[in-house]
Amino acid sequence: MSARSGSSARPHKTNGPVSEAGFVLDVRSLGRRPGTMRDVRRTATDHGRLGLDLIAIPADAAVELDLQLQAVSEGVLVTGAVSGPTVGECSRCLESFDDQVGIRLTELFAYPDSATEQTTEEDEVYRMEDDLIDLEPVILDAIGLELPLQPLCSPDCAGLCPECGVLMAIAGPDHGHEILDPRWAKLASFAVDAPGTGDPAEGSTHPDQPASAADSAVVVSENQEEK
Ligand SMILES: [Zn+2]
Ligand SMILES: [Zn+2]
Repeated sequence: MSARSGSSARPHKTNGPVSEAGFVLDVRSLGRRPGTMRDVRRTATDHGRLGLDLIAIPADAAVELDLQLQAVSEGVLVTGAVSGPTVGECSRCLESFDDQVGIRLTELFAYPDSATEQTTEEDEVYRMEDDLIDLEPVILDAIGLELPLQPLCSPDCAGLCPECGVLMAIAGPDHGHEILDPRWAKLASFAVDAPGTGDPAEGSTHPDQPASAADSAVVVSENQEEK
């Protein structure tokens, strides 16, 4: 009776026997007596990518289900937790990173012949098909809401240098492209001039260890003058 009433064509209906696996739960054993409960603990690996453009649970990654099924008058209420590993791309530094996501579900799956099934649209309340519940669309929606649109590898990710694009985490906090402060510019020119304008006293105290060819030339000329 119930099987026939569920015959309205559904575009995603699969062919062949569908059985309990992955995110599909067979609720036949639960029965229909309201209040009856069953726990489902399972690791699901047969699924597509679950998430957003920049961050998602990769396809076939191990997703942990810790659920409770409860028969209610209109269907089966699924509650519990779902969690799995995510791979993301940091929206600031573009580096790939690993994380975890966890969601809590509370979702009613209406019996095919229930009043709920008759009086609601398919996109309002999930439906049970042939005593099977497919959690994948529910999990996909919930994870999509839970994951960040702008994922970060860490909350304080420094991102990329806006001038040259180098990873700030590698370049360090001193990295920058600012024009030198005038005070530092003076010091810098002094440092450049220093080798050539060696103090004559210094040249005479270390005649055998000239710092450069230029210094040695100066030393030689000074020695010649002394003779
Ligand atoms: Zn980052
Ligand atoms: Zn830079």
